[in-house]
Amino acid sequence: MHPVARLDLKHVWHPFTQMRDWLKREPIVLERAKGAVLWDVRGRQYLDANSSIWTNLHGHRHPRLDQALHRQLRKVAHTSALGFANVPASHLAASLSRTANPLRRPGGRLSGSKLSKVFFSDDGSTAMEAALKMAHEHGRRALGLKRPRFLSLQGSYHGDTIGAVSLGHIDLFHAAYSPLLFRSEKVMAPYCYRCPFNRARPERGDARTYRKCQWECVDKVEAVFASAQKAGQPISAFSVEPRMQGAAGMIAQPSGWLPKAAEIARHFKALLIADEVMTGMGRCGDAARGKLFACQAERVSPDLMAIAKGLTGGYLPMAATLATQEIFDVFLGEYEEFRTFFHGHSFTANQLGAAVALENLNLLESPAGRKQRANLEGWIRQEVEELWSLEIVGDIRQAGLAVGVELVRDWRTRKPFALREKVGIRVCEEMARRGVLTRPIGSVVVMMPPFCTTRDQLRTMFTALRESALHLSRSCGLTLK
Ligand SMILES: *Cc1c(COP(=O)(O)O)cnc(C)c1O
Repeated sequence: MHPVARLDLKHVWHPFTQMRDWLKREPIVLERAKGAVLWDVRGRQYLDANSSIWTNLHGHRHPRLDQALHRQLRKVAHTSALGFANVPASHLAASLSRTANPLRRPGGRLSGSKLSKVFFSDDGSTAMEAALKMAHEHGRRALGLKRPRFLSLQGSYHGDTIGAVSLGHIDLFHAAYSPLLFRSEKVMAPYCYRCPFNRARPERGDARTYRKCQWECVDKVEAVFASAQKAGQPISAFSVEPRMQGAAGMIAQPSGWLPKAAEIARHFKALLIADEVMTGMGRCGDAARGKLFACQAERVSPDLMAIAKGLTGGYLPMAATLATQEIFDVFLGEYEEFRTFFHGHSFTANQLGAAVALENLNLLESPAGRKQRANLEGWIRQEVEELWSLEIVGDIRQAGLAVGVELVRDWRTRKPFALREKVGIRVCEEMARRGVLTRPIGSVVVMMPPFCTTRDQLRTMFTALRESALHLSRSCGLTLK
């Protein structure tokens, strides 16, 4: 065993990992990288098919990002945002609020309020904590509610801190902590493949041509808002992962769901909180029109937006919560009135993180960056086509540059695998043997390549997935459809 692997096994406690399983094997110890390629301490080479848990955008060791970091290092790594401004964070706030601005509707009117204020923090969870505290105070002070109520989607994931977990609805992760949480309401999320209203026959590829949808899931959203209102305890904030719920299993929303849901929230005067932690920064935006956020792809303007994973292109932990002027104003008052937003972290507005995030935005917004994303999206669409023929593949969901492949025991009935069969884990282990690294969510294999992935590298990634899924089909007694 490699000596570093031994140290890891002895001392490191890994996130979201059953450590009893982890301790049985020598772990892959990653040491260096370039572009979409990773190398371990033994010199073995891998492709980073999930962008290092959804964070990396332009590949590892991008010369321009490295340079931005070095340039900033020659000045200062960190100073406090408690009491002082700094250069890169000020520029970054301006750039973020510009790129995340609402789109114009035909006729020139903005589709919502500008997200002109930026609150920095460290990761997706902290960005969501800030958003929900802001929404709470907005509910109390602007709407006059004693106890503002939150609504979020079935299967939603907003992070692992207690507030973010309170908004989350993945029982597997969240149930154990229920005594620690505040109560939030939950509503059915669109999940077309397993929609109780979808009576399409599961034939090959038929997963894509469902019975004409009547938007029953939207009616459910309306019903929750209406009944809360009627009970005199209105919902004051609705949080969503726009276009695709990541940790729930890469559950893509049909186009049109988000604008309808947002309209309902607006009608009931609730704030819309967009958790763009996974979807933002070009991952599930509109590559063709150069829009970086999933909300923009659906022409929806949220009141609060959380950005994290891709903010620094996968370099440093940094996050941002964007808010409208209206929400910001709720916290204004005389010093002794204590309307201040009493919230923040030691590394808020970190200078190194901000410097690299700024350069990341430059890359994303360059014509070459847009073209790269548009190309990759098309290539991914071509690659996933070939997966439909596999017996073990039930559904394939793509939103922009993110894909989930749901593996099932019986595609005819959509019968899932049992948890203890660990099919997702086993497929990903097979893929690692073929030099491709990703991490499953239950029986869903996640493919989220860095934007710099070449046509050939993408082919290698999906070939590994195909071969590994086939390998597993055979060991489960399944064959080609
Ligand atoms: C990853 C994720 C989070 C949590 O972000 P961390 O940086 O892991 O705290 C929150 N929301 C969504 C949608 C995510 O994908």
